[in-house]
Amino acid sequence: MFILKGIEQLENAIAKAKKLRPRVEFGSFGHYRVSGSKGYYTVICKKSDNGYKTVECTCKGAEKGLVCYHAAAALSLHVGLARQQQAA
Ligand SMILES: [Zn+2]
Repeated sequence: MFILKGIEQLENAIAKAKKLRPRVEFGSFGHYRVSGSKGYYTVICKKSDNGYKTVECTCKGAEKGLVCYHAAAALSLHVGLARQQQAA
């Protein structure tokens, strides 16, 4: 799990996601499944009570607090959906 502070933090992971093009499946708002080297990982994006945006992924890298490309791929979808919700 990591706390999302800004887009800079995601740059490397976004570059990797663009290269590998994982499949992102929508579960519910903030809840996604992303394809990886060993099957699908679950990514959960949420806002904690103190206002931090946190991202969780079930892969090994994220367990260590790294920003993985699954999270980056899911976030790009999540951010788009969040904008749509605000506009609605
Ligand atoms: Zn991951």
